[in-house]
Amino acid sequence: MNIIRDPKCVVTRCRVCDFSDLELVLDLGDQPWCNNFLKKEQIGKEPHYSLRVVFCRRCSTPQLDYTVPKEVMFIDHTYVSHTTKTLTNHFGVVAEEVNNRFFKETKQKSVLDIGSNDGSQLKHYKNLGFEVLGVESARTIAKMANDAGIQTTHAFFNHGFAKSLGRKFHVINASGVFFHLEELHSVTEGIRESLHKNGIFVVQFLYMKKIVDNCAFDQIYHEHLLYYNLKNIQALLERHGLQMFDAYISSVHGGSVIGYVSHQGKRVKSSRLETLEKVEEVYQCNDIDTYLDFAKRTAVLKQQNVSYLKNAKQSGKTIYGFGAPAKGNTLLNYFGISTETLYFLTEKNAMRRGLYSPGKHIPVIIEGEFTSTPDIYYVLAWNFRSEILANNQSLVDSGVEFYFPITPK
Ligand SMILES: [Zn+2]
Repeated sequence: MNIIRDPKCVVTRCRVCDFSDLELVLDLGDQPWCNNFLKKEQIGKEPHYSLRVVFCRRCSTPQLDYTVPKEVMFIDHTYVSHTTKTLTNHFGVVAEEVNNRFFKETKQKSVLDIGSNDGSQLKHYKNLGFEVLGVESARTIAKMANDAGIQTTHAFFNHGFAKSLGRKFHVINASGVFFHLEELHSVTEGIRESLHKNGIFVVQFLYMKKIVDNCAFDQIYHEHLLYYNLKNIQALLERHGLQMFDAYISSVHGGSVIGYVSHQGKRVKSSRLETLEKVEEVYQCNDIDTYLDFAKRTAVLKQQNVSYLKNAKQSGKTIYGFGAPAKGNTLLNYFGISTETLYFLTEKNAMRRGLYSPGKHIPVIIEGEFTSTPDIYYVLAWNFRSEILANNQSLVDSGVEFYFPITPK
């Protein structure tokens, strides 16, 4: 195994508040970064890095204590948003809500999307009359967005980039990127810089409370450098003159928060945000004991899954993985599931045709391009449960079992 331990990448101070006394709560071992699907000749050479969660007792931020450099992870990634209907629908709902609530009467309005991917989110804003600009770090995906008519710059957004743009936006959006940020403070400062004085920053992030409740440890991977509850993201925003004034929970990605943020003092905090904050307090979401318990439950889940798969295999059943999401690799690598158990991972995203999963080297096959049917689909994309079951009703009816390693509460 090619293990890399670069002392420069080891995190010794809290990413949010700079506190130096970080405590280990969950160790998922050495893992490859999980979006790095491999070509045949790369098998076995993929670098592995430590994957551990440490907790800051001062600001309550759970975070990784090792940073794989962003240039390694985000230049050539192959994740595209539009492959799931659930996600594209969700993007439409968010854009309409933002427009109706805040900018319906605004004539000339603009939106900046940070980590804009293939333009799936911006397309909805464009239809609502916004001038749109995307910033996307993955070269191929930025090109894909431009080809589809969504103006997109291939870059990493940060304070310097914001200053070079030299303009303000009515809406700044960051969906599923805010926990990826190696340059956390520079990006947040850039958002303050680029946000119109009455503008709204819409942030969507995996909700750590949900990850813990669902025991969705697979959401922990090298691209997700830190994890948010409402308490610590507000501390981060406030440090940069921004303020969350409203938030709600959406089922996207198994449980995310959509937060609305303005410049400090511009808006009144909503009662639903206050309610969510109280819930965090009551459930002790920001206490270290909650994370230590989460780590114990993760170990139990591993035992249960390994034993289920072992029994299924012993009774002669064939098993394919359903979906090849990045998080699936955290699960496969931590559970130690390889080709002896899962013959294939089936996937919609054709960019992964002919590739192998990092770490366990399971071949990816593309939906519609194979004819065999296994006895069991082991569903790695468990967060799209209802969409998957609805799309595969005939297989379910014919007796194929869909096993979900993680079930959202
Ligand atoms: Zn901290």
